[in-house]
Amino acid sequence: MTIRIAHQTAAMMRAHADRAAPLECCGLLLGQGDRIEAVRAADNVAAQPERHFEIDPAALIGAERAARQGHGLAVIGYYHSHPNGRAAPSPTDLAMAAPDGRIWLILAQGAIAAFRAPERAGDTFRRCGLQIDP
Ligand SMILES: [Zn+2]
Repeated sequence: MTIRIAHQTAAMMRAHADRAAPLECCGLLLGQGDRIEAVRAADNVAAQPERHFEIDPAALIGAERAARQGHGLAVIGYYHSHPNGRAAPSPTDLAMAAPDGRIWLILAQGAIAAFRAPERAGDTFRRCGLQIDP
């Protein structure tokens, strides 16, 4: 499975990660199916934002509500950065991930890696392809 995102949208995410470093940045992926059409930066409300991320629940709830009411794109996933880590889910990411099968993008060392969250408790992340369209 390949996730698709426009170059300009990916650039907004990279800029957010650069701005937030050395803290982890995080945000929402909006779109349809496997196509990310927009990203929305959110506050990282984790107790240790240099090591973990937690998307501001108000941002998530607001986006879900807007989509339900028909004036917003669907929330199809989440992104965050690992300023000093690898572009792969950490053990904490796995422990904290909701088993919702949504897309996770992780930015690290200039790379963006794509995954699918587990769909059931006890499952793990699945690596996906990421196509960055011009
Ligand atoms: Zn992480």
